[in-house]
Amino acid sequence: MLKEEKKIRLLKEEYRLLIDGEQVEASSKGWFDTYNPATGEVIARVAKGTREDVDRAVAAARHALEKSKWAKWPAFRRGQILNRVAAIMRERFEDLVRLEVLNSGKSLSAAQGQVHQAIDDFEMYAGAVHTLSGEAKPVPNGFLNYTRKEPVGVCAQIVPWNYPLMMAAWKVAPALAAGCTIILKPATLTPLTAYALAEICHEAGVPAGVLNVVTGSGSEIGAYLVEHPGVDKVAFTGETGTGKDIMKGASATLKRVTLELGGKSPNLVFADADLDAAVDGSVFGIYYNTGMSCEARSRLFVHESIYDAFVEKFVDKTRKLKLGDTFSKETHVGAVISAAQWETIDSYVKLAQEEGAKVVCGGGRPEGEEFKKGHWYLPTVLVDVTNDMRVAQEEIFGPVVVIIKFSDEKEAIRQANDNIYGLAAALWTRDFGRAHRVAAQLKAGTVMINNPFSAMPGLPFGGYKQSGFGRELALETLDLYTETKSVNAYIGSKPLNPFGV
Ligand code: NAP
Ligand code: MG
Repeated sequence: MLKEEKKIRLLKEEYRLLIDGEQVEASSKGWFDTYNPATGEVIARVAKGTREDVDRAVAAARHALEKSKWAKWPAFRRGQILNRVAAIMRERFEDLVRLEVLNSGKSLSAAQGQVHQAIDDFEMYAGAVHTLSGEAKPVPNGFLNYTRKEPVGVCAQIVPWNYPLMMAAWKVAPALAAGCTIILKPATLTPLTAYALAEICHEAGVPAGVLNVVTGSGSEIGAYLVEHPGVDKVAFTGETGTGKDIMKGASATLKRVTLELGGKSPNLVFADADLDAAVDGSVFGIYYNTGMSCEARSRLFVHESIYDAFVEKFVDKTRKLKLGDTFSKETHVGAVISAAQWETIDSYVKLAQEEGAKVVCGGGRPEGEEFKKGHWYLPTVLVDVTNDMRVAQEEIFGPVVVIIKFSDEKEAIRQANDNIYGLAAALWTRDFGRAHRVAAQLKAGTVMINNPFSAMPGLPFGGYKQSGFGRELALETLDLYTETKSVNAYIGSKPLNPFGV
């Protein structure tokens, strides 16, 4: 066992399913191993849930929705519990960070930022519960109408491996705030921090059955959850292809669906940009989280007049990035999640060269003993790329950026929008008018001007086009976890007799 692992108090040897407040084995008694991607070592075993387990979890969530006080409590009581969740997370901050690093292979600094944000999300929704309110509508004399915001019901929440805790927090916090009950399905590669979050929620006072965790294969139990008649809503984050399957699977029972999907976000550097700031922000924009971010700015468009200077500085900074010990605060870029993802990334870099692109930095595994185990890929820069190449069009999901030239603003916008995705976009310019003119024309759910930060609690996050629909992280997310009921009452003194018979 690693030295670091011993220091993680939240780490257990075995993770069971969490159903109706109880930690239970899978009905099949099956298990799967979970790994540290930075070393390839097994760190724990996890229950391999079955359809039968999903049935039990859905029944527990339904029972909690209808019989526990959770959905009926005044919203501020749920807010108090969300604040308690945040307080416990803050107490265990270091353990949560280290557990995330251990199970995802990301760098310590990336995990710290994400755990901080997960805590902030709970506090944000603890306050946001006070906005859950209906309205009194103007109606004809003798009538009284008001609307009620009611929980949408039992929610299946399916999350990916790239931000295991943060994505779980983005989903669990607003659903709890709205009074829903949940079956959380973490990614098979990274189940540990989502599980730790659910345990903390119980400790904070979330009643049994309100938040259940089932681990196991997405194509099996995930798909079963999506089709399950006992589930009212599916909130999914993951690949666009999986999102399409989920929409189909949810259609038979007309579930509410929100989808946070893939991206190939453009990053536009205009000739008048602060070059150093644009370089630093763009290096962070792609290599943060080892490039395995839905909003990674993986298509870099640079004005032709500054192209050479920009590429030189960009490559210079990229070469300075430190890979290695994921538990070190000096490390900038962590490991890739799995051997399969490593192969995908490498095959895109090879394909790029076949398509005529040039690798000016990176490509392949870093040298050194420490990189022989685990899944490590060098931060990689591809030039001589055109926007129609597959490496410019498809999500690689790794530390690989393509740099493309443009000649004017119109062309930059056209190329930026020429992609199936529309999650995020960034632009760098000192021209105030251009900044907002371009921001208005980019087809993306988030636009960053002169900064690389895409997600902050309170700001809506989500996609245009095939990056999905629905917004998370914001007040409007609560609408996606509630139904609006219109209550229409007659309050006149004479009885109504519409037929007049
Ligand atoms: P993924 O392969 O689509 O899997 C995501 C989750 O869905 C996992 O829990 C997975 O379980 C489960 N799943 C797989 N097939 C399923 C099915 N047929 N029905 C129901 N659930 C199923 O995504 P990933 O590879 O984990 O994550 C990377 C992707 O997430 C990237 O495309 C990235 O852009 C996207 N992402 C988007 C956002 C956003 O906010 N827009 C944020 C983060 C990531 P298993 O793990 O067991 O397969
Ligand atoms: Mg996947």
